[in-house]
Amino acid sequence: QQTLKPLHVAIVPTPGLGHLIPLIELAKRLVVHHNFAVTFIIPNDGSSITPQKKALEAVNLQSISSTFLPPIDLDDLPKDAHIVARIILTMTRSLSALRDSLKVLNESTRVVALIVDVLGSDAFDVAIECNVAPYLFWSSNAMSLSFGFYLPSLDETTSCAYQDMLEPVQLPGCVPLHGRDFLDPVHDRNNQGYKATLSVSKKFKLAYGIMVNSFMDLEPEIFKALKEAQVSPGFPAVYPVGPMIKPSSTCKSDGEHECLSWLDSQPRGSVLFVAFGSGGTHSLEQMTELALGLEMSGQRFLWVVRSPNETTKIGTYFSSNAQEKDALSFLPDGFLERTKGVGLAVPSWAPQIQVLSHESTGGFLTHCGWNSALESIVNGVPLIAWPLYAEQPTNAVLLADDIKIAWRVKMNDKGIVEGKDIAKYARGLIEGDEGRLLRNKMKELKEAAKVAFSQQGSSTKSLAEVAEILKGHK
Ligand code: UDP
Repeated sequence: QQTLKPLHVAIVPTPGLGHLIPLIELAKRLVVHHNFAVTFIIPNDGSSITPQKKALEAVNLQSISSTFLPPIDLDDLPKDAHIVARIILTMTRSLSALRDSLKVLNESTRVVALIVDVLGSDAFDVAIECNVAPYLFWSSNAMSLSFGFYLPSLDETTSCAYQDMLEPVQLPGCVPLHGRDFLDPVHDRNNQGYKATLSVSKKFKLAYGIMVNSFMDLEPEIFKALKEAQVSPGFPAVYPVGPMIKPSSTCKSDGEHECLSWLDSQPRGSVLFVAFGSGGTHSLEQMTELALGLEMSGQRFLWVVRSPNETTKIGTYFSSNAQEKDALSFLPDGFLERTKGVGLAVPSWAPQIQVLSHESTGGFLTHCGWNSALESIVNGVPLIAWPLYAEQPTNAVLLADDIKIAWRVKMNDKGIVEGKDIAKYARGLIEGDEGRLLRNKMKELKEAAKVAFSQQGSSTKSLAEVAEILKGHK
């Protein structure tokens, strides 16, 4: 007698831990709630795969397995190529290995879907060729997805650099978006990053469906507009399935970080957490202003400090977890002594989810990576938005102008956020009346996020709808 094997889903993340983390949560839900088996097929750009391996090993579910594709060669890529070009090229050059892997998998099980993330739509052709339904998991928000849909037509109708456009664009259901706040790979239309981004955007419409790591109550107007657009031919169905983030209960295995015991001894809601994702770095001048601003504010803070980088804001993206023990040596003279007891600076990495869920944390100065934004929302922590790269400027517009749970930092003519302004934001957020408005809105969204993920919640139902389609029930 034949045993009934679960249907299989293949997930193909592009490089970077930030892409993998929400996909792991999606995989867990597909397995636990909908009885699928999942295999991660992971392209390899040649950088260390240890962080990805560790994240996958921690899952510990029999129905989730993973395989790494052979590293590809990117030596011919120009030195100034945008990081997005590097990621997309990794995918394109892995397609043949992906095809082989998918075929092997398809021989032993029935693969019903291939899910890729934001930069992976080049793999759709392989999925279609292998008779597997192509799906996109959009690990960011609905607003940036709307921009992705809009980019091909913007490319055709505009000839100037987007930063020079006089008027903001008005995406359906979105607040106005200025060219300067478009995702950074599209800033230079001659760079390979632009061409690669445009080409993956054009492929979105090949997806049978797009799952978005956001939820209905967070971006109601934008999701409504995307649903309305679905009636036009070639526009895939959009499913809000988030927030997919690592639950804080699963973060304890790494051992207790010193900053958590420090937080234990701080008053409730009093600490500003300062962190710039897995890659964010600043120039030494900017780092010094930030230090002075935090000191001047007189507020308690917990700062994840990275060594300065004068040429890029995305210094450690591919080497996350890299221990940079000497990062603190770049802080201004006497800073650590003067702020002792009020602030804590930790080098390179802190257990962010545990920090954000700690009751002493009262605000988050963030680079607006979408995982960071969601982690703050589910914990009800209001934001100071300091976008650095990728789609973070668009996220900042969404968080500050639309959802109104963040203030966005202002830069001076030299592109520096000044210490006096940082001090003002920090004080306002932690103890000012104006900070209370953001906090109250955040509290509402914290509840809404919980409801979206509950048994009958909007995101749970959306994912169930996708599962039903994959099982051939709809
Ligand atoms: N993160 C962390 N500790 C740090 C910095 C980042 O745990 O010191 C985690 C954070 O919780 C989030 C991820 O790394 O899950 C960063 O993802 P995000 O989308 O915010 O930004 P990216 O790193 O992709 O720019």
